[in-house]
Amino acid sequence: MNRLVVMKFGGTSVEDAKAILRTAGIVAGRVAKGLQPVVVVSAMARVTDLLISAAATAARGDRASALAITERLRIRHHDTATQIAAGPALEHDPLAVMRPDPELAATHAWMETEFDGLDEILRGLAVVGELTPRISDMIVSYGERISSRMIAEAFARTGLNAVHVDARQCIVTDAQHGKAIPLDALIEQRLKQHVVPHLAEARVPVLGGFIGSTEQGVTTTLGRGGSDFTAALVGGGIDAGAIEIWTDVNGIMTADPRMCPDALRVRTISFEEAAELAYFGAKVLHPATILPAVRKNIPVLVLNSKNPQNEGTRITALAPHCSSPFKSIAVKKRLTIMDVVASRMLMSHGYLRSIFEVFDRHKCPVDMVSTSEVSVSLSLDSNEKLPAIAADLSKLADVKYEGRKALVCMVGENIRGQNGIAARVFQSVRHVNLRMISQGASEINMSFMVEEDDADEAVRSLHAEFFADPDPEIFDREAAAAKS
Ligand code: ADP
Ligand code: ASP
Ligand code: MG
Repeated sequence: MNRLVVMKFGGTSVEDAKAILRTAGIVAGRVAKGLQPVVVVSAMARVTDLLISAAATAARGDRASALAITERLRIRHHDTATQIAAGPALEHDPLAVMRPDPELAATHAWMETEFDGLDEILRGLAVVGELTPRISDMIVSYGERISSRMIAEAFARTGLNAVHVDARQCIVTDAQHGKAIPLDALIEQRLKQHVVPHLAEARVPVLGGFIGSTEQGVTTTLGRGGSDFTAALVGGGIDAGAIEIWTDVNGIMTADPRMCPDALRVRTISFEEAAELAYFGAKVLHPATILPAVRKNIPVLVLNSKNPQNEGTRITALAPHCSSPFKSIAVKKRLTIMDVVASRMLMSHGYLRSIFEVFDRHKCPVDMVSTSEVSVSLSLDSNEKLPAIAADLSKLADVKYEGRKALVCMVGENIRGQNGIAARVFQSVRHVNLRMISQGASEINMSFMVEEDDADEAVRSLHAEFFADPDPEIFDREAAAAKS
């Protein structure tokens, strides 16, 4: 039996000392079962957002406000380490934090050095005033650099044979800062060098997610939510028997429980369905997570660190039969619809290519497309490149675009071959103005665009229609809100 398991803990699973100690307990539980974990951790909750805002603030020249943000982060990490050192004793003895502790002093010392390094970069940035993607990666990497080392030390204190491994030694990527592409063959080699030897010594390696570096050693990141991706890369690279994504909900739900309190846990879902959901906005998994796991047929489990007994969601190559057409509904917000109307050049051979070349040149992905004889509508992430894209397209056609749109996407293997599903979908959202509709691009998704303000209502209506009588083999009837 393959005993290697990659365990990834997201920001909320390591948000404070209590959460970190709970995480240590979950890992110890796996070790007690004879498994060999490799742990991947995110930055503490909200830290990446704060680092991004510190970078933007410094780039505007506001040095004092940028340093005020990192000062708060410095205190938060310092205090978390102190509370971890005091451990459960803190609950009965508030003076536990006062006792001299040389190990804690060493932790505080390296943290000071890390935060001094970060402040140094922010000071330089405030002078230069230009935030390049490379500097941005350098700044945001501190979240995982510091959390992973602190958590490795916390684990060791609780008795785990844990060791910190700098993820940047293993996760080798290209130089596309902000969304770097991993180089699989090199990663496999580096994992053999820096992780596998620890496993032979029965140690538990702890790596930061999200961060990597180029072959030349320049720090990169894998994109927001990228720690899931790190977990899958490590799992694929060491041929793990399973990858566990520990988060703050009971697994993949039939909808985002924050939007739809009636959402149910999905017991099993196929790789293809999970990838589609992730791509179309279900934040619970990073879109690229699944690939390295699919390639090696490694099962992925999504589990709740606040409710570790719950069996979560299992993502497998083939999903079992399910009587309902959909498994889950995802929503992607902050989208823009762009209409390209060919006033001067009617739809002709090569016309679509010239439109897509513009998006390609601007490296702007397109989510949904619909065409008529004279026009093309596209949905895009709202971003700062849109005016330049529109200007380029206006050389070919008339262009208008409008933001604040959302894409609602229903995913399930059973859409194919069932009659009358579209009628049920449109009947249940009849009060909502639909802007674009798509079905068939992949056989497992059906989606439409609405005004952003209508999205939550549309999801709740669809959920009520399709999950009123859930298949007990696939869905746990207990609603998410009751558990987490
Ligand atoms: P982590 O910090 O552990 O990576 P994330 O915040 O990235 O956690 O992802 C977990 C969140 O994803 C949940 O709190 C939930 O609000 C959201 N989410 C969106 N869609 C879904 C879904 N279909 N099932 C479960 N959670 C979802
Ligand atoms: N800390 C990173 C983020 O917030 C990566 C992650 O948590 O997955 O995007
Ligand atoms: Mg996440």
